Amino acid sequence: MEKKDIKSLTLSELTEEIKNMGEPAFRSKQLYEWMHVKLARDYDEMTNIPKALKEKCRENFTYTSLEKVRVQESQIDDTKKFLFALADGNVIESVFMKYKFGNSVCISSQVGCRMGCRFCASTLDGVERNLLPSEMLDQIYSIARITGEKISRVVVMGSGEPLDNYDNLLRFIKLLTDENGLNMGQRNLTVSTCGIVPNILKLADEKLAINLALSLHASNNDKRKELMPIANQYEIHEVLDACKTYFEKTGRQLTFEYSLVSGVNDTDEDATELSELLKGLNAVVNLIPVNPIKERTFKPTDRAGALSFKNKLEKNHINVTIRREMGRDIDGACGQLRRRHLEEE
Ligand code: SAH
Repeated sequence: MEKKDIKSLTLSELTEEIKNMGEPAFRSKQLYEWMHVKLARDYDEMTNIPKALKEKCRENFTYTSLEKVRVQESQIDDTKKFLFALADGNVIESVFMKYKFGNSVCISSQVGCRMGCRFCASTLDGVERNLLPSEMLDQIYSIARITGEKISRVVVMGSGEPLDNYDNLLRFIKLLTDENGLNMGQRNLTVSTCGIVPNILKLADEKLAINLALSLHASNNDKRKELMPIANQYEIHEVLDACKTYFEKTGRQLTFEYSLVSGVNDTDEDATELSELLKGLNAVVNLIPVNPIKERTFKPTDRAGALSFKNKLEKNHINVTIRREMGRDIDGACGQLRRRHLEEE
């Protein structure tokens, strides 16, 4: 029988397992606390757990933990990008960002990605595998341990498509926001998707208060198709309708991500069309000049162009922010650090 992944179990599931092993139920609470509050890397750290139980756990469960392979620290801001190795040798990246109002961690949800967005480095070699709930948690836990900082926000905006790993994502959210664990507020969690419509609708029905970000990147479906293959599957209005449903059911404000690509989606006409498209939606557009990757020829819109695009949207009563381009000097864009590491090997 395949061993269960102990850190991906909920407290009640763990309690059930512990009872089946003939151990007293309170042990599960202790184990859970070591894993999800004290962030233990292995059983050796668990000082109040008897040796015999640790042995039983080793026999019955797998225990994930990440190995730090590289850290890149930005010289322009406090951003740190981590490359971690998983137990099977795959590597993933996560980012730590320091803001005045608290620290944020950006995590990966898959090894690689199969969505094929044209400007994105994560997807160049397709998807390798889904991350387990524990492996998503481990990115946050490891960064908390390494930096010694409190982490108040998490964004699932690293490599991978979270809604393509739906069940593990949901379990991850439950564990991260569990009052017996790190107890992060659901409102402090954001999931970013390229727009898998059925799963946006499913998420809307989960009765969660997490924030949804949609990677929009174009003002009409033809342009979106050029940048994002997923647009062949779900038409732009269908995706926006799903987002609207998400807002209606959860009350959480929507974010639309829009990476500005020079000459491709950043013209005045694009701004006008985008304003029309988003009219009446309670949303914020998050502009970010595309981070160029060497495998593609896309160029970022310059500062003046981005500001003029922003002004045009604002004149049309759309809420806009230009994302601070954090960590551009450290392979800031999704999947860049992992790729470089794999190439160097
Ligand atoms: N799969 C999810 C989350 C991953 S990426 C999604 O599609 O939303 C997080 C955001 O960064 C997405 O909006 C993605 O489109 C964007 N992104 C990826 N590569 C980029 C690049 N090179 N420059 C700018 N934005 C990029």
